[in-house]
Amino acid sequence: MKKLSRILFALLLLAPGYRGSARDLAARPVPILLYHSVSEDTGNPLKLGPSRFEEQMEYLRSKGFHPLFFSDLSGWEKGRPLPAKPVLITLDDGYADNYAAAYPILRRTGMKTTVFSITGEIGKPGYLTWGQLREMEASGVVRAESHTVSHPNLTRLDAGGKRRELIESRREIVRQLGHRPVALAYPYGAYDAETEEAVRLAGYRFAVTGETGCADPSQGRFTLHRILVTSGMPMEEFRGWLRDCGG
Ligand SMILES: [Zn+2]
Repeated sequence: MKKLSRILFALLLLAPGYRGSARDLAARPVPILLYHSVSEDTGNPLKLGPSRFEEQMEYLRSKGFHPLFFSDLSGWEKGRPLPAKPVLITLDDGYADNYAAAYPILRRTGMKTTVFSITGEIGKPGYLTWGQLREMEASGVVRAESHTVSHPNLTRLDAGGKRRELIESRREIVRQLGHRPVALAYPYGAYDAETEEAVRLAGYRFAVTGETGCADPSQGRFTLHRILVTSGMPMEEFRGWLRDCGG
């Protein structure tokens, strides 16, 4: 169905007299890249070596991709146009190597990146500290958003439990970093209708899942898809995803 609508959209572009409109811009997909740990570990597909990460960030920079934070997406779902070649880079869980290994690369390449932080883990061994998050945010290339307080499967919690995870993590980010998070990443990518509603009521504007693909407003702004970049993903596939998402 999605494929069909893309074909129809492509045909529309070819149709004589086509001029484009805000309505067409509303359908424009965006690649949201999903990373976790930036470290060398050949045994774990979720750990991407710093040199591979650098190659990908350098590719985005050299090809003129325009990195965005989630706050830059506001109005996108209603058709507000985005800069050309938009991309969102996301690091889930807030591992310590995001500062030690990823941050120098992000600063050098200017690739704005969102860190989905588990607020209850911040400052614990293996995770970022609030001080590191503050320093990275001050540079302008990193923005922290919420990945809940304790990384539970939100669909298994009752309404009160969901609220605590969603609201407390939000409050803690406001307290520590002085800005309101606008996006949530579902732990384990797990969500259902009730969870989506809880996310909306907690004041978030966007939520991302672990489902694979380009993010498209038609998915709904609380169930946006992402592209999981594993250590085994060849560069050609990485480039292919960006092309698929309109870059
Ligand atoms: Zn996670």
